[in-house]
Amino acid sequence: MKQYDYIIAGGGCAGLSLAYYLALSSLRTKRVLIIDAEDKGQNDRTWCFWGDQPTAFDDIVTREWPVLAFADERGEKPGNLGTLRYKMIRSADFYRKVKTAIARHPGFEILQARISEMGESGSGAYVMADGRRFEAGWVFNSLLRNGGPPSAGGPHHFLLQHFTGWWIRCEEPVFDPEKGMLMDFRTLQYRSTRFLYVLPFSRHEALVEHTVFSPGKLHPKSYERALEAYISETLGAREYTITDVEHGAIPMTDKPFPASASAHIINIGIAGGAVKPSTGYAFSNIQRQARQIAAQLSMTGSPVLPPPPASRFRFYDSLLLNILQDYGEEGKFIFGSLFRRNGMRRILRFLDENTSIWEEARIFATLPLVPFLRALVLAKLWPALRKLSPGRWRPSSRKAPDVAYGIREGVKN
Ligand SMILES: Cc1cc2nc3c(=O)[nH]c(=O)nc-3n(C[C@H](O)[C@H](O)[C@H](O)COP(=O)(O)OP(=O)(O)OC[C@H]3O[C@@H](n4cnc5c(N)ncnc54)[C@H](O)[C@@H]3O)c2cc1C
Repeated sequence: MKQYDYIIAGGGCAGLSLAYYLALSSLRTKRVLIIDAEDKGQNDRTWCFWGDQPTAFDDIVTREWPVLAFADERGEKPGNLGTLRYKMIRSADFYRKVKTAIARHPGFEILQARISEMGESGSGAYVMADGRRFEAGWVFNSLLRNGGPPSAGGPHHFLLQHFTGWWIRCEEPVFDPEKGMLMDFRTLQYRSTRFLYVLPFSRHEALVEHTVFSPGKLHPKSYERALEAYISETLGAREYTITDVEHGAIPMTDKPFPASASAHIINIGIAGGAVKPSTGYAFSNIQRQARQIAAQLSMTGSPVLPPPPASRFRFYDSLLLNILQDYGEEGKFIFGSLFRRNGMRRILRFLDENTSIWEEARIFATLPLVPFLRALVLAKLWPALRKLSPGRWRPSSRKAPDVAYGIREGVKN
């Protein structure tokens, strides 16, 4: 059995980001084992994020958009991002870049194996993978099922952001390659929040994704029908070819993910609470988390970060999740008010949790009052009152959605 300084369980976005920042730091001489069940040679997803500062991954950005739009039956509202850019990275480019960077350090190893178990062992932790045992001072876990997801129940909300996306090539020039469509609500809502997300690469090519916020996934045909209707009726593309397909499901919950599974097992990525609960975006948070862990480790020898301060943004997330979970059809009107009555830059800064409390008050003043007041009463005041008489409190029997990993399939034309 080989002893490592660090084991990274799961070499996806969070695991490889952490490996990358370790390889850039003074810890590059450590013995680091990255274990993943897959070889990560494929493009299994794309990540989008926004910002106006340089990032470690700018050299592999596939495309960036200076304009983002919102649309519903009232029409389209484009918003110029100014100095901000909405960027896309293909996971295959990310995996390749990180693997190249860590290959320079002989102490870093990648193992393709399925992890079945992990736990504490003396002054460190162990991981069982394909029947073999590996030990390290610290284990960084990005596997949702091993000490990751919070269990259902209590006053928390559980939703999935689930989607199917088609990469299409159209005969007609129907896209504006400078403009991404963040949310287009011109699709049937069926008492949930459903929209199209369109990222064009040229006048003829785009990723078109049908996205739903709801407790469970749909039948595959439902996403396909919505995509077909949108492409032909809303985009007006009569002839098109599907060149690739992407599916995904991202947990949206206000139940905190534990920062660690045990004393020497630190959760990272989605398992470590990196998803913004009300939007499903995680890439930027994962980068922040991985950089912080690497910096903390090199400064103190311990990766344990202080708990994040209580944030009013968690409260906002929770109110929105309450509305989306129980009154999903209202999502369209809430996002409609948000996008129609606020500039895109302010919205992105709000979603990034970079606004002042005054800006947030101005944003909330543009939103419909009744759903938020109702959520305040149902999600916050009522549970607080029930806590005062715990005998009457019955934990919710609502089950957390079963979280599936995103997959990308090649499609034969
Ligand atoms: C299709 C898709 C698109 C997304 N797009 C965006 C986006 O545009 N912007 C954004 O901010 N966020 C996006 N997200 C959300 C989030 O950024 C990603 O899910 C991100 O990959 C999460 O990183 P992670 O490391 O936590 O999980 P992953 O990247 O999924 O890594 C977990 C790794 O663990 C491995 N693993 C699992 N079980 C085992 C096991 N038993 N043994 C060994 N290995 C195992 C998996 O193979 C995987 O490589 C997207 C998610 C999906 C699914």
